[in-house]
Amino acid sequence: MIVVRTVADLREALRDRRTAPVGLVPTMGALHEGHATLLRAARRDNATVVMSIFVNPTQFNEQSDLAAYPRSEEADLALAEAEGVDVVFAPDAAEVYPQGFATTVSVTGAIAETLEGAERGRAHFDGVATVVTKLLLGALPDHAYFGAKDAQQVAVIRRLVADLGIPVTLMVCPTSRDDDGLARSSRNTRLSPEERARALAIPRALQEVTDAAATGITDPEALRARAMATLEASGIRPEYVALVDPATFAPVPVVEGVVLVAIAARVGATRLIDNTVIGGA
Ligand code: AMP
Repeated sequence: MIVVRTVADLREALRDRRTAPVGLVPTMGALHEGHATLLRAARRDNATVVMSIFVNPTQFNEQSDLAAYPRSEEADLALAEAEGVDVVFAPDAAEVYPQGFATTVSVTGAIAETLEGAERGRAHFDGVATVVTKLLLGALPDHAYFGAKDAQQVAVIRRLVADLGIPVTLMVCPTSRDDDGLARSSRNTRLSPEERARALAIPRALQEVTDAAATGITDPEALRARAMATLEASGIRPEYVALVDPATFAPVPVVEGVVLVAIAARVGATRLIDNTVIGGA
């Protein structure tokens, strides 16, 4: 495994490897088992696996969140090596945003402006879209791997890849969960034991909506109310509980076909998101 810090070195490392598939797994480091599932999928599908580590300052809407974001490069490199990564691209901010940088990739419409876009502000998905575009252009992978946990991020990236004609196939991996159901996240390390126990209301609420929908309830408000009650019973006041079309992120007037149920909530000082899809298959 080699570690490169510049796009020039990344391109050099990949130059002779392009005759067989290259997979890219973008991360912000602080790797956990959720990231490992993406790396395994990439390892399975590609001759060369590239993983990027970059804590992208432009997508953080809160300076305190950026400052507190866990950083653990040494452990990350060990995990990457163990998962068979070939090339780690770990640039610093000046490599990604050199002096004079003035371009923003901005996806418009409900997929970028509702839910996470509304709560975290426009700049969040602008930051994500811009950095992912740069990573895709830097590595020019055949496949790029993203987690379903960040469903809206996937929708935004799908949009920009289609709109800009970036020649990559997006591979979306299911949300990896701890045994108790909590979606794995780098931010989970910030939860106290008491907060972690309360946070379990989030996957419980998603399960409850799934179960209620399976009994034939099609009113999104009725399903939302159930999730809200579960969250509130654990003292969680969510930022949103939303039932939306997974492609457009428009709210669904009635639950039929595939619907994304998405929750964002602060547990203590830690902001968590999770989602599930109902009505599939
Ligand atoms: P991050 O380092 O949080 O930016 O995440 C890097 C990638 O890993 C993103 O595509 C995330 O959606 C994905 N990811 C993070 N947590 C999980 C999880 N629990 N299950 C599946 N994918 C995840």
